Amino acid sequence: MAVKRQISMVLDLNKCIGCHTCSSGCKMQWTNRNGREYMYWNNVETKPGTGYPRNFADMGGGFDSNGKLKIGKEPGAEDYGIPWDYNYEEALMNGVDPWLRPNVKPTWGANWDEDQGEGEYPNTHYFYLPRLCNHCENPACLAACSRNAIYKRQEDGIVLVDQKRCRGYRYCVSACPYKKVYFNEQTSMSEKCIFCFPRIEKGLPTACASQCSGRIRFIGYRDDEAGPIHILVDKYKVALPLYPDRGTRPNVFYVPPLSPPKIGPDGKPTGEDRIPLAYLEKLFGPGVSEALGTLAAERRKKAESGASELMETLIGYRRADMFKVG
Ligand code: SF4
Ligand code: SF4
Repeated sequence: MAVKRQISMVLDLNKCIGCHTCSSGCKMQWTNRNGREYMYWNNVETKPGTGYPRNFADMGGGFDSNGKLKIGKEPGAEDYGIPWDYNYEEALMNGVDPWLRPNVKPTWGANWDEDQGEGEYPNTHYFYLPRLCNHCENPACLAACSRNAIYKRQEDGIVLVDQKRCRGYRYCVSACPYKKVYFNEQTSMSEKCIFCFPRIEKGLPTACASQCSGRIRFIGYRDDEAGPIHILVDKYKVALPLYPDRGTRPNVFYVPPLSPPKIGPDGKPTGEDRIPLAYLEKLFGPGVSEALGTLAAERRKKAESGASELMETLIGYRRADMFKVG
């Protein structure tokens, strides 16, 4: 779907510390009330792990290799995790169980398997994967909507749901392979990440990127050759889309994580990567090996000579260089 310009985001997974400040920033700004309580337009999940909603990657959606739309499964409330309240007042005043009001034990939540990862000590591994709507070039949510309520803005490619046209059929929820459209039971309409377009229109980065304490997020236009997106995605090819096989052509890209080495029985590094390459390729496609090779080579170059355009871009010394929004 051709647009005049495409705004995009790159997230460097080597810098994410899993603090969830991005999710809190998004939630406080957009989704803390009015039927949106269960929604995380931005979430941070641990990989390997089930993700949010639970096992979303196995629910289908997207397009097949012939470009035919696949309507996947709609997640149930338990797949998202039913929000619960904390009983702060009674806990403080009467010393009762601080956890819940009403008296319900939580069984699942957006970060239920946080920091579990995989592997046997000392060769355990995990990394964090922050996720948001990819504002795809070929959005499955848009293709599935029989009301033409979903559209992609010409000026920046942001994908939005027209709340006046939506009738809550939820085909978009099932068709998005990333499960990044949510149904609001209170309004009977679908909602999703809006890439903070009111901020973008003022030349400001999204709330999740602005708040990011790890400074892992870069925002800019794909066609800006001096900007971080072009440098990371097109010039050095170290930033890759999530699940490219789902056919939606995402505009959110990830710098894959470099792996710590495995430790042998003698307690020494074996030189083998702890995170299996096949696992990373399942997430980010066949470009992972080349991307990791480029990252390692440029890191060495920086250590030896002090100069590497790629490493300097990824460090992000200045916010003005990380966010080329205006
Ligand atoms: S990630 Fe899902 S909701 Fe977002 S544009 Fe792509 S298909 Fe639509
Ligand atoms: S705020 Fe940044 S560092 Fe923290 S979890 Fe989100 S993306 Fe990762």
